[in-house]
Amino acid sequence: MSQDERFQTEALEQLKEFLRIPSISALPEHKPDIQRAADFTEAALKRAGITETCQITRGGGNPLVYGAWTGAPGKPTMLLYGHYDVQPPDPLDEWKSPPFEPEQRGDDLFGRGTSDDKGQVWILVKAVERLMQLNGSLPVNVKFLIEGEEESGGESIETYVAERPAELACDAVVICDTEMFAAGLPTLTTGLRGLVYGEIAVEGARQDLHSGSYGGAAPNVLMAIAEILTALKHRDGRVLIPRFYERVKAPAEAELEAWRSLPFDENEYREKEVGSPKLTGEPGYSVLERVWARPTFEVHGIRGGFVGDGAKTVIPARASVKISTRLVPDQRPDEIVALIKEAIAAACPKGVKAEFKLLSSAPASVVDVSSPFISKACEALDAVFGRKTVFMRCGGSIPIAGSFREHLGVPSVLMGFGLPDDNLHSPNEKFHLPNLYRGIESVMKYLELLGR
Ligand SMILES: [Zn+2]
Repeated sequence: MSQDERFQTEALEQLKEFLRIPSISALPEHKPDIQRAADFTEAALKRAGITETCQITRGGGNPLVYGAWTGAPGKPTMLLYGHYDVQPPDPLDEWKSPPFEPEQRGDDLFGRGTSDDKGQVWILVKAVERLMQLNGSLPVNVKFLIEGEEESGGESIETYVAERPAELACDAVVICDTEMFAAGLPTLTTGLRGLVYGEIAVEGARQDLHSGSYGGAAPNVLMAIAEILTALKHRDGRVLIPRFYERVKAPAEAELEAWRSLPFDENEYREKEVGSPKLTGEPGYSVLERVWARPTFEVHGIRGGFVGDGAKTVIPARASVKISTRLVPDQRPDEIVALIKEAIAAACPKGVKAEFKLLSSAPASVVDVSSPFISKACEALDAVFGRKTVFMRCGGSIPIAGSFREHLGVPSVLMGFGLPDDNLHSPNEKFHLPNLYRGIESVMKYLELLGR
């Protein structure tokens, strides 16, 4: 067995150990497992040759695992980000092998966290370890920041980044928590949508009323919710909130052109991923534009009224609806919240009161593709995968990328090695093992190029 093969085998065995820890951040009973996963991560950094390591806790939050190696004066400093926490595994009976007993089938490793994000954290750790083994030092300075609340929306990392920017000072961040556009196609994610998420609470009569006695005179809060929602979004997909699109910045023509050449089949996407008879959305935009570069308005849940079996003739007095909008550059979350509030007030029918309560928000972020941190990432990926790297955006949000930009003033390079069919957050999550090894190689190559 060659040295490289031995390294790969060992990396895989250690990753399996990492995966056996059920570090589910959303469930409080797994707090001890969270600690075990943090300890495991810290020990792995030490073994990789990272000298200064520690665990940082904010409030009652989960530990942030930090590690720094700054033995390359005059060279760039890269902050390497990932998360050791995972999503709950349910529904359990849909897993073909137990979620926390990683199983290799063919080239894939199955288990919760394989792709999101322990497998990708492992890429960062092992790339550094290998470089250290081969050269006794690293070509650049590195700081690791591996968090344990990514899947549960915790605020520890936000607070830490905002409070202690000096400790995290760096030239750019590498986020290893995204996917490739297709198997074998090296990909950088260059844009993330932002988010405004909140709840509209609607109040009508003092108490629930009998629809026989009062129907025809009393206001109905569920009808009010329906009226408000249809006033905020047109059935053709356009958002009707006044001035909602005012700041929307269109992607550059070159970016659109590049998207048109991606291997994307609308029918396959509709059948295999969405599973609906038709796709919906704003007229005049391609599917990729609609999910990457256009803002949205979605309804997530309505609470109120009688929802049991059978009939109850009630006019509900109170109800609420959870809504969100995905934001794109240059929309500003605070401004959008204000516009949503105005639009709700204007649409609210008489006899009821509607109030919007903000639950979370994050701005969209885009990476300047002309940055040398991006071009060197492309060069590294091109070399390892033997194909030209493509750019995609992500319709979701990674709020921490916005915080790195805001508090550290640096760009994030979203270099991810997951695949679209990795079943993130679902049963039978997997990681394509060739991507583990190519990922390690790519990060090694990237750090080498940055150190030249
Ligand atoms: Zn993740």
